Amino acid sequence: MKYKTTITKIINETYDTKTFMIKKPANFKYEPGHFCMIRTGEQEIAKPFSLSSSPHEKTLDFTIKKVGEMTTKMFELKKGSEIIIEGPFGEPFKKENCNKYAFIAGGTGIDPIYGFAKNMEHENKNVQITIFYSSKTLDDVLFKKNFDLMKKVKVIYFLTNENKKINGMINSRINAEKILENIEKPKDWKWKAIGPSNMVVDMNKIISKIT
Ligand SMILES: Cc1cc2nc3c(=O)[nH]c(=O)nc-3n(C[C@H](O)[C@H](O)[C@H](O)COP(=O)(O)OP(=O)(O)OC[C@H]3O[C@@H](n4cnc5c(N)ncnc54)[C@H](O)[C@@H]3O)c2cc1C
Repeated sequence: MKYKTTITKIINETYDTKTFMIKKPANFKYEPGHFCMIRTGEQEIAKPFSLSSSPHEKTLDFTIKKVGEMTTKMFELKKGSEIIIEGPFGEPFKKENCNKYAFIAGGTGIDPIYGFAKNMEHENKNVQITIFYSSKTLDDVLFKKNFDLMKKVKVIYFLTNENKKINGMINSRINAEKILENIEKPKDWKWKAIGPSNMVVDMNKIISKIT
């Protein structure tokens, strides 16, 4: 389904990433893990963006990094600007009879996982969520304050391009050794890697090896 809706709020998350909070159309239903095709009023081409909100929240949120033509246009939009969304598309994360979820995220790959984590906290189900989250530098890390408040969620932060040593974060790429230090019996967990395609290929190799 295609919907014409409006931006209700814009949050500056980092120097190059903003969350666009969008008025939820009355009959729009989605699950964490879904994405939408988004187009501004002016543009012909729609591009995919994951929902970083949880279905229990009032708005549809998209956390977007400025990288090229479309995202630069998005960054010019203001509260009240019109936007066209189509969806939801993709496969939701929530699985029947699963209470241990392990994610490996790179960059804005964290967006749908954040939506899922908020949803699990809200539903207060008996689940454990562990997230291995890689960013270039401390300034690129998203949602840390909110993750810190979550009871069911443990985030292990990796910084690949940070000169300083940051307390509680690991200055390296995500690797099998660090994963195994944090997860007992990896076979018991439901795994998913989300991020840049080359990273997902490497992480899926690690996941296959340890599960
Ligand atoms: C299922 C799915 C979900 C997604 N969810 C999100 C999300 O939640 N948040 C998010 O931020 N992104 C998300 N993305 C990625 C998002 O769709 C792209 O970032 C977006 O399409 C980029 O569009 P653009 O026109 O701004 O960039 P484009 O202009 O298409 O540029 C794309 C790439 O080319 C590079 N590039 C562009 N112009 C130049 C140039 N002049 N010189 C050198 N390099 C250049 C950019 O660095 C960028 O890496 C998702 C993608 C998929 C497939």
